[in-house]
Amino acid sequence: MMDVFFERYHALCRFSVSLGPMVWFRVGGQAQVFFKPSDQTSLQEFISECPAEIPLFPLGVGSNLLIRDGGIKGIVIRLGKAFTSIRFEDDLVYVGAGALDRTVALMAAEQGLTGLEFLSGIPGTIGGAVKMNAGAYGSEVKDVFVSCKVITRQGEIVEKKLEDLNFTYRKSAIEADDIILEATFKAQKGSKEESLHKIESIQRNRALSQPIKGQTGGSTFKNPAGESAWKLIDQAGCRGLRFGKAQVSEKHCNFLLNTGGASAYEIETLAEEVRRRVYDQSKILLEWEIKRVGQMIPIENYKEKHHAY
Ligand SMILES: Cc1cc2nc3c(=O)[nH]c(=O)nc-3n(C[C@H](O)[C@H](O)[C@H](O)COP(=O)(O)OP(=O)(O)OC[C@H]3O[C@@H](n4cnc5c(N)ncnc54)[C@H](O)[C@@H]3O)c2cc1C
Repeated sequence: MMDVFFERYHALCRFSVSLGPMVWFRVGGQAQVFFKPSDQTSLQEFISECPAEIPLFPLGVGSNLLIRDGGIKGIVIRLGKAFTSIRFEDDLVYVGAGALDRTVALMAAEQGLTGLEFLSGIPGTIGGAVKMNAGAYGSEVKDVFVSCKVITRQGEIVEKKLEDLNFTYRKSAIEADDIILEATFKAQKGSKEESLHKIESIQRNRALSQPIKGQTGGSTFKNPAGESAWKLIDQAGCRGLRFGKAQVSEKHCNFLLNTGGASAYEIETLAEEVRRRVYDQSKILLEWEIKRVGQMIPIENYKEKHHAY
């Protein structure tokens, strides 16, 4: 069955595709199969015919992902241009899941709509933002979300409403292999100038406080209730800590950096060391915000084996 499927779709798929260049950390192994649908109909056909035993993984722009060095088994699906439309109807905003958060924030502001400015500082797609309930500066997707259209692993297109998604801190009830196609947000009538000004100040603040030009995955750990992850990391003496070519950012110590040529193994090992040191210091066990996906490779396969912190 698998052979028949890949024979049929061979020309539309790419095989053994390096994922590192597609994600912010610039690390990670290969996708066994990579598929970029040209439109919703071709995606629906593809998924409906794809044998159930083949895992599917939706990829946004990889700004919240640590893809392990052994890569991702199954099919990685990335939505292309056909999924980036943005449409306004009064105060409702209909957005393709492949659109960039920043573009949506800017276009809504240009329309004189307020409430979506927070998206301007989040460097992902709308699909990733809904899945992660992305948020910043006191707002999150949950606050503006009305509904989204999702294609299930069976190839069925269903609508999910706010109450279906159980949004909590950086989490939603979207299944790992459900693919969000588009989302509807509710904004409010506002002032174009004020919204653009807000966006500008968000951008300025971020540039000052985060290594936004670095190869990073954003906040590595969630803030524990009533605490800041970065403060706990700082108190545990981890600011600037290195393992191989991975480093805890000096600028914002909840961000990890690939300083050039790091492996996913180095980044993950460094993060686990940070968790260990924070726990020793504060008895608080940090929870990962970044999603780690894919296969590890045996330690003996790495050229550089003996790192010290
Ligand atoms: C410099 C920097 C700053 C950041 N600041 C913030 C911040 O302020 N607030 C914040 O919340 N996050 C922040 N992040 C993290 C990240 O940008 C968000 O989590 C973002 O929403 C991820 O979107 P993405 O498209 O990159 O998703 P990816 O990283 O590609 O994927 C993340 C998850 O979403 C899933 N996914 C992606 N697209 C779809 C889809 N169409 N359908 C179903 N599932 C999908 C993936 O399978 C994966 O599970 C930051 C990251 C960086 C690098």
